[in-house]
Amino acid sequence: MNHQIPFNKPCLEGDEIANILESIQAGKIAGDGKFNQRCHLEIAKTLGAKAVLLTTSGTDALELAALLCDIQPGDEVILPSYTFVSTANAFCLRGARPVFIDIRPDTLNLDETQLSASITDNTKAIVPVHYAGVACEMPVINAIAQAHQIRVVEDAAHGFLASYKGQYLGTLGDLGCYSFHETKTFICGEGGAIAINREADIEIAEIYREKGTNRSAFFKGEVDKYTWVDLGSSFLPSDLIGAFLYGQFQARDQIIGKRQKIYQEYLRLLQPLADRGLVKLPQIPEDVKINYHMFYLIVQDLKIRTDLIAYLRHQGIIAVFHYVPLHLSQYAQALGIEIRLPITEAIANTIIRLPFLIP
Ligand SMILES: *Cc1c(COP(=O)(O)O)cnc(C)c1O
Repeated sequence: MNHQIPFNKPCLEGDEIANILESIQAGKIAGDGKFNQRCHLEIAKTLGAKAVLLTTSGTDALELAALLCDIQPGDEVILPSYTFVSTANAFCLRGARPVFIDIRPDTLNLDETQLSASITDNTKAIVPVHYAGVACEMPVINAIAQAHQIRVVEDAAHGFLASYKGQYLGTLGDLGCYSFHETKTFICGEGGAIAINREADIEIAEIYREKGTNRSAFFKGEVDKYTWVDLGSSFLPSDLIGAFLYGQFQARDQIIGKRQKIYQEYLRLLQPLADRGLVKLPQIPEDVKINYHMFYLIVQDLKIRTDLIAYLRHQGIIAVFHYVPLHLSQYAQALGIEIRLPITEAIANTIIRLPFLIP
């Protein structure tokens, strides 16, 4: 074995490096210089969001969303258990209790048919995760949320520039959270963004994001000094991060195109195994456009998965699995959560993610 295929490798597809130099030359590499502002305006315009603000991570975008939902101790938030910890943590940090529901076996997204039964007087938000950039059943989720006056925060960490019936993920709920972590489709090392889809949330989001000050209004010339006006934290990334991300954003068609080729090649080569019933491949519903974030296989049982990952590793190919279902995690046990979610548990034992390396 002389050549190992890693699971992931960062790509440079546009003017990332030139942009970073330009940001330095422009003389402001702290938050919201030239490139962050470009990202805000152009990403919002492309997505059709009321506003988009960069954050230091997808996790931070979710934490900002939890603040905007005014989550208080004792509130309940409904989310899938089959997700990354940050989907829950962001809300639990504000004192919410996570209410985990199962996923659909086809898309591995939150099973919207189980939503209504989980809603109580304490439910404050629903957080659908668009797994692998495949849209959740947003019209159903939104209708239930509206009927109960609950906020919808889309965890679109996997789904930047993926869409549902022509609408971009993250713009279908009240708030949408993206991640640009190096393992996602568009990257800047660590980074994220929040799409704000209600006019009324924009100003307060700017305050929370700028350490609880009205500095954004000050920079726009709307007030003549800035001061502490509310709670907040430092959610804004350096302009160097925005400069890198802007390069990726400009090269978006190229990045998605290259990933599409990899995805289609995997599909072509693995379809015979799927035809024989040995593996299940991703299922993409009609009306859904993906961003080719990931390619996964579902095998028959845990032993096959363990053996297959070991076999691939032996061949120099790094394949991985995720997630430890949140309802079975150590922290959920400490919270006293004792539920079974059969589909989540089965998928967590049988999924394999294959490498995705842009040539
Ligand atoms: C990656 C990810 C996050 C967190 O994003 P970071 O940028 O790593 O903080 C949140 N939710 C999901 C589903 C993710 O995959």
